[in-house]
Amino acid sequence: MRKKIVAGNWKMNKTLPEAINLASEVRQMLGMEAKPSAEVIFCVPALYLIPIKDALGADSMISIGGQNTAAYTQGAYTGEMAADMLASAGIPFVILGHSERRSLFGETDQVVKTKIDLALNAGLKPIFCCGEPKEIRQANQHESLVKQQVESGLFHLSASELSNVVIAYEPVWAIGTGLTATAEQAQDMHAFIRNLVANKYGSEVASQIRILYGGSVKASNAAEIFSKPDVDGGLIGGASLQAAEFVNIIRCA
Ligand code: PEP
Repeated sequence: MRKKIVAGNWKMNKTLPEAINLASEVRQMLGMEAKPSAEVIFCVPALYLIPIKDALGADSMISIGGQNTAAYTQGAYTGEMAADMLASAGIPFVILGHSERRSLFGETDQVVKTKIDLALNAGLKPIFCCGEPKEIRQANQHESLVKQQVESGLFHLSASELSNVVIAYEPVWAIGTGLTATAEQAQDMHAFIRNLVANKYGSEVASQIRILYGGSVKASNAAEIFSKPDVDGGLIGGASLQAAEFVNIIRCA
């Protein structure tokens, strides 16, 4: 049985006091009910990692993640943050290969692969993002593009390394657009990805890896998407910025 994950990707939003308020509100709302059945993660701007971790406290049910790490280990890379730095600060997760990093910051499959390796070497759990832009979906090439992203980003790993990776399927046309993949489209792609993993690593590894859906998930559509057998939760952008909405999404998991 795979435990679902609901991860919020705050991107570059909120001032520090607003961010602390958001984290505290979610924590308080979740604290009032039984332990959530899903694992909850806030992926926050780098500057907020430690303050949010401190605000949540050591016994929090909510984990913290970064949104990116460098493709280098250390040295003269002004403005970058190494995977080892994140790990040394006690942060367990990091989003890697998000489509905004790929499209706005030129991250290639090779760069994402390097970052995955550095993250795993540092002891982090990467949330590896993949997904096709609109024109690729329209050309019915979405499976081959996602196959290429997954194979080049992950398939050099050993099975035990892969067990520390979470995959997030995020169709680019659904991110921040209000357009959501239908639950069937999400399920089809998740089953396709799980099958790729099964062919390479065997069915046991494939049955354990968690595959999240991301792309305009809201409280109103989360239950249907999360109910699909190969959807193990969500990576939530815009809707993770409002405490009540995010908590309602967590309740769907
Ligand atoms: C994301 O950026 O990972 C994302 C899924 O964003 P949104 O939920 O806003 O579409």
